[in-house]
Order: sequence, then structure tokens, then C-alpha cells
Amino acid sequence: MTLNQVAERYVKLALAVGQHSDYYIDAYYGPEEWQAQDRQSLSTLLKNVDILVADIEATVANKGEQLRKQFLLVQSRSVKVFIAQLSGKTLSFNDESLALYDAISPSLNEAELDITLATLDKLLPGEGELNQRMNVFSDKFVVARDKLDAVFTAAIDESRRRTKKYIELDENENFTVEYVSDKVWSAYNWYKGNSYSLIQVNTDFPIHIDRAIDLASHEGYPGHHVFNSLMEKHLVDGKGWIEYCVYPLFSPMSLLAEGSANYGIEVAFSRQERIKFEKDVLFPLAGLNAENADLYYEIQAIMQKLSYAGNMVAQHYLDGDIDKNNAIALLMKYSLTSREKSTQRLGFIEANRSYVINYNLGQDIVKRYIEQLVGDGDEEKKWQVFTELLSNPKTASMMQ
Ligand SMILES: [Zn+2]
Repeated sequence: MTLNQVAERYVKLALAVGQHSDYYIDAYYGPEEWQAQDRQSLSTLLKNVDILVADIEATVANKGEQLRKQFLLVQSRSVKVFIAQLSGKTLSFNDESLALYDAISPSLNEAELDITLATLDKLLPGEGELNQRMNVFSDKFVVARDKLDAVFTAAIDESRRRTKKYIELDENENFTVEYVSDKVWSAYNWYKGNSYSLIQVNTDFPIHIDRAIDLASHEGYPGHHVFNSLMEKHLVDGKGWIEYCVYPLFSPMSLLAEGSANYGIEVAFSRQERIKFEKDVLFPLAGLNAENADLYYEIQAIMQKLSYAGNMVAQHYLDGDIDKNNAIALLMKYSLTSREKSTQRLGFIEANRSYVINYNLGQDIVKRYIEQLVGDGDEEKKWQVFTELLSNPKTASMMQ
């Protein structure tokens, strides 16, 4: 059995699982006929995945394909767990994240979170709950719906320009932006193959000015669009590693995808460059006053320390320790969001479960991995190692 043969079986198996779960196949651009398989029962799929995993283990990988084999094995084991879950098996939050994403989010010290809240409380004095004061303050930085496209386009153009300085992309690489509503996510990149993506931005909730670069870099450059393009170019087209033409969402691939998309923001923009670009270009385009921007950025930076609280709430809620109302109240407290926004967030948690760890833990794992290989201030090397990682994907345990 060769790796190419087991890789093809893995792709077909993932597609067959996708027939049981709407969002499982995040991207696919392999042979069309593989998508038209007869539907197989979950018990058949479970048997097939066991055989597949055993066959991958028994494959002898030549020197250049050791990492390929390891990645395929970790991915295939995650498919097995996902099928088991579809069949009714329940896993704790941490067991699930380890099985599906190859990582466990560290447990949090709530006292430390409260210290961060106290710092924010001093920065935003006044009446009412802290999340309300935060929302009133943040409202000054909301991009009006009719300015959104101009702001977002400028952010994408700049992210692309910065990325193309260091990463060679296909000449025809392209994407379309659509503004949508009624989604549990704030934005999504649908990779269609041939270096083309559809980026959807959800306008259910106000979009703040700082989200423009977040979204442009995360969904586009050097985030999901670039990651998928590089895998297609280097692995699927370049090496014929067909397993990369399918991207199962609930799999270890997502920790690298979300982690690199988030870390990619700071690869593309240093903090100072980003603030300068936003103040000089995006604020005027949005017709916003940059007067209180420094305080806003200070607050955003402090808020970063609260990011893992979202994982904690998801864990307690999904493990059944707290009910829905408690979960929403904790999100309001630690994410400092409104009741409506926290409810949407909980909708995301219900739909995607332990997937939430891929954003912050993924970002920290990717950051650590890259920064231990790159000297301080060596921009060129940082981009090089980052590109290398996106072109030769590693799961969380492979980055440790
Ligand atoms: Zn993402």
C-alpha cells in the first residue's frame, strides 16, 4: 500500500462523512466524481476508518514523506472520532479537543481574569455594568454599513500588498466578498480551489474599525485564502498529495488554519504599523474620529488577556456544568459583550463545540513554534518560516 493510495481513501472517506454532516467538508476541489458516492451508514464508515488507520500505520513512508504520513494519520484518527460522535458517542470538552484538534486548552485561573476586568473597569469609569460601558465606548468605533465595503476593501488591499511582498501567490489568485446575515460566525472564507475564495462577512452585529484588518488578514492575506492556496499549489498540484484537496473542518487541520490566520495578522502588521494604517487610512474612510483611538487600542490589547475565558465558558457549558443562562452571563462578563452578541457567541459554541480553542490556543501554538525558529526583528525569516509551515502543515502536537 502506498501513501498515495491511502490518501485517496482518506479523501473519499472524509467526503462520505460529509454526507452525514453539513459543515464537515469546509473545502474540496478534488475529482468531482468522488463526491457522488452512494451514502454509507455510520457503522460502515466506522469500520472503514479503522481499516484506513491501520493501513496508514502499515505504510512505509520514504524519507521526504515522514511528515506527510504523520499528518495523514492524525487527520484520519480525528475522522474516526468524528464518526463516533455522529453515531452518538459523547466526549468531554477536553477529550474532544484532543481527539479532533490534537490539543487541550489550558485551564484558567479566574482570579487572574478578574484582575484584568478590574484594570478595564478603571479605564472605563462610569455607571452601569462594565460590559455596558464597554459597548457605549466601542460604539464610537463602529463602521457604518454603507462605509463597510470601502473600509474592508482597503484593509484587504493592504494585507494583500504586505503578504505578496514575501509570499509568491498564483497570478490568478482571487476572491469575492459578500455581505451576509443570520450567521453564528462573524466572517467565513469558503475556499473553492484554483486560488479562489468566497469571503463572507456577517453584518448581523456592528463591525468595529479594528475588525477590518482582523478579518482581511484572517480570512484573506496571509490567512485562510493564502493557506488554502499554498496547500493547493505546493501539495496537491506540486507533489500530488491528494489528501490536501479536502479540508474536514472538525479536524487537526483547523488548529493550524485558525491559529495561523490569527497569528498572520501580526505577521502582516506590527502593532505600530497597524495602528498607523488604521488611523491614517481606515478611520477617514469610515468617517470616524480617531481622537479616542489610543484608549481604544489600549483596551483591545488588555481584552486579549480575556480570550481564553471563551474556551472556559464553552467547556463548562458543553460539559453540562452550567446552563445556557449562566453561559451567556459569563460571556457578557468576560467577553464584555452585550446579551445579544453573547447569545450569538453561544450559538457558535453550540454549533462548533471545542473548535473554539483553535483560534486562541492555535494562535499561541503557531506563534511559539515560529518565534522559536526566528530571531527577534527578523521580518524576512518570520515570513519564510510562516510560509514554510503553511506549505507543509503540522498538527498541534507536531508543532510542540
Ligand atoms: Zn477562521
